[in-house]
Amino acid sequence: KRAKQTKKFELFSSDNLDRALHRFSLETDLRRALERDELELHYQPLIDLESGKLNGFEALARWNHPLLGMVSPLDFIPVAEESGLIVPLGRWVLQKASATIALWERESGSDLPIRVSVNLSAVQLLRDDVPSAVEHAIKAAGIDGDRLTLELTESAFVDDPEGAKTVLDALKALNTNLAMDDFGTGYSNLAYLQKLPIDVLKIDRSFVSDMLANKDNRAIVSTILSLASALGMKTTAEGIETQAVSDELKGLGCTNGQGYYYARPLTADAAYEFLSARKAS
Ligand code: C2E
Ligand code: CA
Ligand code: CA
Ligand code: CA
Repeated sequence: KRAKQTKKFELFSSDNLDRALHRFSLETDLRRALERDELELHYQPLIDLESGKLNGFEALARWNHPLLGMVSPLDFIPVAEESGLIVPLGRWVLQKASATIALWERESGSDLPIRVSVNLSAVQLLRDDVPSAVEHAIKAAGIDGDRLTLELTESAFVDDPEGAKTVLDALKALNTNLAMDDFGTGYSNLAYLQKLPIDVLKIDRSFVSDMLANKDNRAIVSTILSLASALGMKTTAEGIETQAVSDELKGLGCTNGQGYYYARPLTADAAYEFLSARKAS
């Protein structure tokens, strides 16, 4: 009984209360931000390592908060997941990315296919009918499903692998591409991986950035690249910050590169300029 009381007291200690209030106001603000269109997508280029050409962009959410300034997705995505706001937020991201692809294709004369990757949270996959959200977004924008790559994390498969497979099959039926994000950081079930319709393995930045200095990380990257090649999957390495790492990954046969070495995440307008410049060259 005593222990219980102590616990209760801890729960309402001022530190926790502060945090709860902070979270509460973030949640209220986030709800309002969605209504008021305060969220933005920035776009980070993905580069084909073999040819050096632009292969697409990853859409990354940003929240321009009126008082707090730019709030990182690492702060507001967890709030959205805990409050259930991830469902409308995730739908907004899908719609915005699809509409932007359609706009860029119209502006550039559409002779060049533009592909954008969108992050799907594991909670979003549990709480929403994601295939129907994706179908709605691509139909409303008038784009082909092939223009979208959906990035999922391994945590989406832990609790209900069979259910996850059903969702992935439905997403593939819409002609979208599927990428396993942050690969190597989760609880990879390798036997299961080959049963899933995954097109791309994304190698997490924590292995890539220092792979020339850290032998263990270089070994992990090279193992993931062999695995992907054996399973007939493409690869994207994130967190490439130097030309030396870029050259090394190209030599190891990695398909795509992403990182500050090529470009930071760009506003939609800057991404379109990047696209136009690459197209002309
Ligand atoms: P992620 O999916 O692993 O995205 C890559 C993150 O690495 C991005 O951080 C990107 O800005 C950063 N990055 C890219 N290249 C480099 C580099 O060379 N060096 C360094 N130091 N960092 C680099 P960001 O934009 O802060 O996003 C953080 C995470 O938030 C993402 O990690 C993703 O899990 C999540 N996220 C972002 N947007 C969305 C979204 O629309 N929906 C969902 N569910 N999650 C999102
Ligand atoms: Ca991602
Ligand atoms: Ca991720
Ligand atoms: Ca990552």
